[in-house]
Amino acid sequence: MKLTELDAQFINEGYPYRDFTGRFGMGIIFRCPCCRNYFPVYFKNPIDGMSQAEPANKNDTHRWDRAGITLDDLTLSPSVNFQIKDRHGNIIKQHWHGHIKNGEVTNA
Ligand SMILES: [Zn+2]
Repeated sequence: MKLTELDAQFINEGYPYRDFTGRFGMGIIFRCPCCRNYFPVYFKNPIDGMSQAEPANKNDTHRWDRAGITLDDLTLSPSVNFQIKDRHGNIIKQHWHGHIKNGEVTNA
């Protein structure tokens, strides 16, 4: 499956949940293959060359190495693991776990 089939979009200025004024390519948001809810994935190396997103909370610490600058050539490492955690960091729901390579989404 391709990222674009999961309604993937880059996280830029105007992202409704965070103040990223003046920024672009902070990460991507796309629909979880298991439930179609949107999850964000933030890059260690945003496309605009500036600093990575600060954690929104203590469960928001993972940042991914990015290669590529479009939804069709994006590669992230390591794998992406969508989980819902409680405030103590305990996993309360496991969602999708898989890989993104050259814009292709595959299960782990
Ligand atoms: Zn899901």
